[in-house]
Amino acid sequence: MTPDPVTAPPASVPLDRTDRAVAPSTPPAEPAPEPVAPVVFDVADVSVYYGGFRAIRDANLQIRQHEITAFIGPSGCGKSTMLRCFDRMNDLIEGARVEGRILYHGVDLYGAKIDPVEVRKRIGMVFQKPNPFPKSIYDNVAFGARLAGLKGDLDSVVEQALRRAALWDEVKDRLKKSAIGLSGGQQQRLCIARAIAVEPEVILMDEPCSALDPIATARVEDLMQELKDRYTIVIVTHNMQQAARVSDRTAFFTTEVNELSDTRTGVLVEFDVTDKIFSNPTDERTENYVTGRFG
Ligand code: ADP
Repeated sequence: MTPDPVTAPPASVPLDRTDRAVAPSTPPAEPAPEPVAPVVFDVADVSVYYGGFRAIRDANLQIRQHEITAFIGPSGCGKSTMLRCFDRMNDLIEGARVEGRILYHGVDLYGAKIDPVEVRKRIGMVFQKPNPFPKSIYDNVAFGARLAGLKGDLDSVVEQALRRAALWDEVKDRLKKSAIGLSGGQQQRLCIARAIAVEPEVILMDEPCSALDPIATARVEDLMQELKDRYTIVIVTHNMQQAARVSDRTAFFTTEVNELSDTRTGVLVEFDVTDKIFSNPTDERTENYVTGRFG
């Protein structure tokens, strides 16, 4: 077991004759590092294939609790493919196959006993284009909760989800009106409310702001910061500034040519805390991308 860094004396501290530690003459040790949040998803050597085409090769990363993790990189590098591994959405794509291992709280997400429908209750998804159902605002939010057979007062489930999605005040007087009448930004927050109404642990967001104007984008980004106290968030974004603004950790993917087949496979180049990725990345390819020299 590792000695407690706060109470255990450093090995080099001299002991006096009474065997009590005496203060070292050197300056005090560095403060203990910040505690690291628990791992929600542990991705080890994951490759994803569409038929014979390998879209991602040997990715390794961890998604940590109550953090926002951003996936960035050029189009086609496998960001969405990687995201879809977490709620087993790739299962719905014919010919798609995941190799390697993804643990969800230590349990093999692709284990034989795992029910993908159960997985999707715990892990919600918000898509690029807001996709409300052609139903009322209320029914959109209640939909998942009804489907999941959630017990309790549906009205308060709907209200709470809309409040958490920072939409309640804007829609509380028109809950029975069609969701299609909402603005794009409101529709996206409605989709977030719909996702959180089933009490997931994780929210996956696939370019959730790419169809929104800058004001609606800012609202969704603010909302993400509020939500992370309660949820773990993974976001795919083509907008580097957005990743830098909202995320705690960033994974940078790119593509590499497969010489044998003349196709391009996605590879995870670097994964680290967001500040490091944007200010002092380790890999030259990351630096070229984040400084806009990618070409
Ligand atoms: P990104 O999100 O980074 O733009 P994607 O994950 O969408 O990348 O795509 C990664 C690669 O996988 C691309 O070459 C893309 O054409 C391919 N791909 C994605 N979805 C499918 C699919 N359903 N069937 C076949 N190939 C796919």
